[in-house]
Amino acid sequence: MKYLSRFQMVYIFAVTFVALSLFCNGAFAQTVTEILRSGSNGSKKNLVIIGDGFQAADQNTYNTLVNNFIFNGVFSDDVFMETLNAFNIYRVNANSTDSGVTQVDVNGNVTTARNTAFGYRYSGIWDRCWMEPGPNSSTLINNVLNSLVPQRDFVFIILNEPGGGGCRRGDSFAVTTSSNWTTVAHEMGHMVGNLGDEYTGGNTHYTGSEPNQANLTIETDRNKVKWKSFIDPSTPVTTNCADVTDNSQDIGIFEGATLGTTRYRFDLYRSSCNDRMNSNAPAFCSVCYNRLQTVLDPYHDYTYRKSYAGDFNGDGKDDLFVFNYSDWSMPYFALSFASIRTF
Ligand SMILES: [Zn+2]
Repeated sequence: MKYLSRFQMVYIFAVTFVALSLFCNGAFAQTVTEILRSGSNGSKKNLVIIGDGFQAADQNTYNTLVNNFIFNGVFSDDVFMETLNAFNIYRVNANSTDSGVTQVDVNGNVTTARNTAFGYRYSGIWDRCWMEPGPNSSTLINNVLNSLVPQRDFVFIILNEPGGGGCRRGDSFAVTTSSNWTTVAHEMGHMVGNLGDEYTGGNTHYTGSEPNQANLTIETDRNKVKWKSFIDPSTPVTTNCADVTDNSQDIGIFEGATLGTTRYRFDLYRSSCNDRMNSNAPAFCSVCYNRLQTVLDPYHDYTYRKSYAGDFNGDGKDDLFVFNYSDWSMPYFALSFASIRTF
């Protein structure tokens, strides 16, 4: 059933309306464009994308970035492709006076100041989570979003910054223009599913209590660990990467993970050897996938584009054809009582 929701893609449509609101002066005009409407605001998760450090002349570039991150990236692959219908998505365009964002050093001191719509800052430093809001960023962002997208649940910020990095803070996260969509998907895993980082390394022992992230644990008993139902009986625990054949999809109890900015080499465990919450590009592991599906399920419709009932093969049993696509050559599946055939 993993692929049933693929055909929610048909609900992508580019109905666009623009609400114009003025802040301060015309140079800072903000607009919102609805790029996906899946249902009423209250029945869906409302995701808004905003950009900082984009001048008026950069807005087409920004729009292309949004499209690539969202529709050609995050929502065209893996669990978010399947759960697209759980989201309404909005793009906010905001003109900045300067192109690029303010730079800060390891202590947070401004090294290059830029006048941008939201005053976000970039350090490129792991311990500062790569980028951070400036002293007025939260107020500026909230003022705009309270006016244009008051129904928002999640905020995705794109910084006009060539350096790399991504950082989630609560119900928002930021990435840079040079980021791959897989980085966005990783940050979505944090923001939507409260998944933990599975980075390894360092030389530190974890001494804290059981983390609440669905993919991190201190439990090494296969019968007690919170993802016990995902571990194949033949997989040893604790688990080494050499013990599994699929590094992203085979579940075990792998030592090493990250909480906050601390990489714990010992006594903190992750559910997979190397999935999207570790190195971005691999798919979410099945524990992370299940967590995201569970979180989004209440917001997801399971409707079909076309369906036909009848006895089409003359076996005396009723058949049901369900279609994802627009023509008869690509039916989604046919159900004939005891059997499901996929095409
Ligand atoms: Zn992360």
